[in-house]
Amino acid sequence: MLLLLIPGVGLAIAVGILFGWRWVFAPILGWAMLTWLLGSLRALGKDAKPPGAPADDVVATPVGTDQRTLFWCEECGTEVLLLVRGTNRAPSHCGQRMHERTEILN
Ligand SMILES: [Zn+2]
Repeated sequence: MLLLLIPGVGLAIAVGILFGWRWVFAPILGWAMLTWLLGSLRALGKDAKPPGAPADDVVATPVGTDQRTLFWCEECGTEVLLLVRGTNRAPSHCGQRMHERTEILN
């Protein structure tokens, strides 16, 4: 990779001097923007399910048990009491995943 970089830099300097630096920096900027865009789309699609995919098994929290599950937001302090578990993923708040806490009742 480093061996490919040395003639690449030489070629970029030659093109920059002969034809103008916009021919050097525009492709680099375009490559950076494309890489950032693809990385963002990949991160968005990681958690998403395709439409029509079967839902995760719903496990209802049994009524009368001596424990309850709460989710809390580290950013703003919001707490959510879990009544029915739809997925194993924690809900999001303030752009982050909430933290799970299980309390044992007396
Ligand atoms: Zn929050």
